[in-house]
Amino acid sequence: MLTEEIFTNLDQADPLAKKRDLFELPEGVVYLDGNSLGPLTRMARRRLAQAVQVEWGQDLITSWNKHGWYDAPARVGAKIGKLVGAEEGSVLACDGTSINLFKLIVAAMRLRKNRRVILSDKGNFPTDLYIAQGVADLLDKPELRLVETEQLEGALNEEVALLIISHVDYRTGRLHDMKAITEKAHSVGAMVLWDLCHSAGVMSVDLADCRADLAVGCGYKYLNGGPGAPAYLYVAPRWQSVIKPPLSGWWGHDAPFAFDLDYRPADGIARNLCGTQSVLGLTALEAALQAFGGLSRKQLRAKSEKMTQLFIDLLDQECGSYGFKLASPRNPAQRGSQVSLHHPEGYAIVQALIARGVIGDFRAPDFIRLGFAPLYLRYSDIWKTVAILKEIMATQAWQDPAFQYSSQVVT
Ligand SMILES: *Cc1c(COP(=O)(O)O)cnc(C)c1O
Repeated sequence: MLTEEIFTNLDQADPLAKKRDLFELPEGVVYLDGNSLGPLTRMARRRLAQAVQVEWGQDLITSWNKHGWYDAPARVGAKIGKLVGAEEGSVLACDGTSINLFKLIVAAMRLRKNRRVILSDKGNFPTDLYIAQGVADLLDKPELRLVETEQLEGALNEEVALLIISHVDYRTGRLHDMKAITEKAHSVGAMVLWDLCHSAGVMSVDLADCRADLAVGCGYKYLNGGPGAPAYLYVAPRWQSVIKPPLSGWWGHDAPFAFDLDYRPADGIARNLCGTQSVLGLTALEAALQAFGGLSRKQLRAKSEKMTQLFIDLLDQECGSYGFKLASPRNPAQRGSQVSLHHPEGYAIVQALIARGVIGDFRAPDFIRLGFAPLYLRYSDIWKTVAILKEIMATQAWQDPAFQYSSQVVT
């Protein structure tokens, strides 16, 4: 039997508890949407103000060197690299996830010229699939083959040039075994592009240990980089001087300031840059990453796993009769940092939760999606969430007409 006291005690013993003070969360809000947009950190607010006033306002163009603007993609990339177990010098913070997907999918297809299949699963995030479709059209030859998630490993064969897979499924929170799948893909000669959008900052990812080839991820979810924050990309050291990124802009040139007429790719990871990057975006992201200071990936994963498990157990205990069906794996080893629930009234229930200060989100057709970020969530927030959910169900508060229609951005 779980009691409120258990959750309060867990907060008192939580080695990560102090990290919450680094965030500017609105009073009284339980924020379970860090998997969609991470909250503002105090560091980002301060650093952005300083970058605007001093770097942009006073030092102007000299800031490219003086304040390290030019090196920011590599410097911020290195910090993200630590959160995903990447080799040194193999991550860049740049562009957006969709753009980075495009760059790496094309680059991979160029490396596997005698194969034509891009494999992915129907559970993958739409932009991954749309970009892959665009690449297939552009390159004329490739075929995008989509299978059910369960059939993904079985569909790996010698036709496959590239597997594109989300480490954690954005809808169900299902976690894929990075090492096993990468190994399987390599055994048939395919490359793998991992999408880490729902992994970095909460899961214990180890790209180097898994011998991953390529990866992308975004900066605005669990990394808390702010709306539209720069994303990141990873290229394994063994591919860095081999791949030919398709967006051959001047920032990826071997000597950008020589202004040569011909493109010559930079050595190493830098060739994956295209053009001038969003400096203010990189500034906010870099500042936000300080929140991870002193923590290991294992600690983040341990708290995340404990939180999702406690939520599921408490939901079973308190809301067992209200028609929720767990959409996420019950086995914690197969679950990312979110819990998704099926419920036919999911949309209205999420709106009722938001109206009570518990912010989660809804994904069609019937997913209630709750993200558990170990940096700023308290165990007592889990207790509060389930108590409010129970009240909404017991009183049928979700039936309020105000909760029935959908707005343009489904939050
Ligand atoms: C959020 C997310 C994206 C987002 O792509 P953008 O280019 O940032 O809009 C891509 N892939 C996955 C798996 C995501 O969860």
